[in-house]
Amino acid sequence: MAIVVVAAVAWLATTGDSYAIRLATLAGTQALLVLGYQLVFGHAGALSLAQGALFGLGAYVAAMVSLQAPWGLSLTLPAAALAAMLVAAVVGAIVLRLETHYFALATLAVAQLIHLAAVNLETLTGGANGLPGVPAVTLAGVALGRGWPMLVLAWSLFAAAAWAVARVLAGLNGLALDLAREHPSAAQSVGIDVGALRFTAFVAGAGLAGLAGGLHAHVVGVVSPDVTDMPVMVGCLIATVIGGRRAVAGAALGAILLTHAPEWFRFLENRHLIAFGLLALAMVIVAPNGLADLLATARQRLWPPQPETSNAVLAPPAHIIRQAGALRVAHVGKAFGGVRALHDVSLSVAPGEAVGVIGPNGSGKTTLLNVVTGVLSADEGEVRLGTDSLQRKPAFAIARLGIARTFQQAELSADTTVLDAVATAAFARAPRPTRAVARAEARHWLMRVGIVDAAALRCGALPAGRRRLVEVARALMVRPCLLALDEPGAGLSRGERIELAQRLRTLHSSGTALLVVDHDIDFLAACVDRLICLERGRVIADGPLQTVRRDPQVRQAYFGRDDAAVDS
Ligand code: ADP
Ligand code: MG
Repeated sequence: MAIVVVAAVAWLATTGDSYAIRLATLAGTQALLVLGYQLVFGHAGALSLAQGALFGLGAYVAAMVSLQAPWGLSLTLPAAALAAMLVAAVVGAIVLRLETHYFALATLAVAQLIHLAAVNLETLTGGANGLPGVPAVTLAGVALGRGWPMLVLAWSLFAAAAWAVARVLAGLNGLALDLAREHPSAAQSVGIDVGALRFTAFVAGAGLAGLAGGLHAHVVGVVSPDVTDMPVMVGCLIATVIGGRRAVAGAALGAILLTHAPEWFRFLENRHLIAFGLLALAMVIVAPNGLADLLATARQRLWPPQPETSNAVLAPPAHIIRQAGALRVAHVGKAFGGVRALHDVSLSVAPGEAVGVIGPNGSGKTTLLNVVTGVLSADEGEVRLGTDSLQRKPAFAIARLGIARTFQQAELSADTTVLDAVATAAFARAPRPTRAVARAEARHWLMRVGIVDAAALRCGALPAGRRRLVEVARALMVRPCLLALDEPGAGLSRGERIELAQRLRTLHSSGTALLVVDHDIDFLAACVDRLICLERGRVIADGPLQTVRRDPQVRQAYFGRDDAAVDS
């Protein structure tokens, strides 16, 4: 890395005419823009099409401040970043909750509005002529010359921002963003406020776009509506995809290629854009995850990374495991169109109790767990935990009250290691632990569910049954008072199911209440004391295990016949 930087500087110093230096400076501003877009698109997974316009906004703000308020010359860059963040905060608060393509369209509309404002608000922006004569940057009262000083400033700002971003993401933040992007419901289920996380990434990314735009204005010396136009956004997107969506080095690589490659093809004259397009296409095919990823893979081949040496295990202090009131579900109804998935369902789970829910496919078991954990809101009725009403509480808030869950289809990021997948759940804890501390506790819960041997594997490499156990460990990391499990035994062998039931029993004996949905009545018999049977959205039996097992209505509903099969 250092060698590359030294070589680039040496090359510029020996052969560098002012044009080469200017191009390298523009690459630095572009790298800042792309670094910001990595936060929005790469980390938060939000396909914003406004990043380019926010860059343009920053350029205009820097130009306006330096032209109209000469006393504010040292403030141009902070003002540019702040203006972009403010606009992003307003836009983000309104459109971030939209689904992917609607979000993309909404940000495209915002970008067009900014562009139209640049063209039409002539008194402020100079209209189509723009604002010429933007002076050089002033730092602490000293005007920096163009050329080398700006080159150093642009790349120093990039280096500082890249260092800060990498540092923030190295903690639990990076893991939380990964889960929130790939499995938002799972992220909410461990208390992560996905909306707040996306909002923060969107605004921070806008800040970097504004800063980049401000620098651009000072480097070029003139701002015209072009800086808010679509080609800026397209360039940013191409550089992000070519360089890499998440690695900070990718922002630098993508930006350098984007600014320099068209120059390499200049000799092709008016066909140079075609050549650049083909090069970009070839890169996407050769390195679909970006150049940074390609380089990282090559480096791992040459110098394999040291396996994680720390095997620290940290059990949570016993007094921290929550005690809360009973879960009460009263007269809950939920319909999907014409299908009544739940109908006047009432039940309760006392603190520390272990309750099983059985019922045929489609009887409403998953819907019940979804209503309890806030994934769905009930149409009617009430859900309470102790004195807290869970009505209209978002899923992440319910998780923070101490109800953790697993999903019928395991929701784990394939590329995350088992250890990190579990450690992620410590993100919402206050105070937030370091990644090392979270990993040590994660190892404890992996031991409790019996898969600590898989800690270093990627989740995607595990068979379905074991993935579900990772989810159980992740849910336990929430330190819940009530653990709700949706078919935890599915996909496991009979032996593994018996083992899981025993482990759940042990957890239960240390004070955690269980609400376990499953098909397998023997599995439930080994881990719960009370059984609730659902049929077509109604509770048809609720009582001690043996009583419900013998209930003729249950046999009829569950097994389609009233014989002794249930006891076998
Ligand atoms: P179970 O988990 O007991 O198999 P579910 O709770 O998944 O049952 O489903 C109960 C009923 O609600 C089924 O008829 C199912 O088709 C319907 N249902 C569940 N979720 C949805 C949904 N998101 N949209 C439409 N119908 C749904
Ligand atoms: Mg289900």
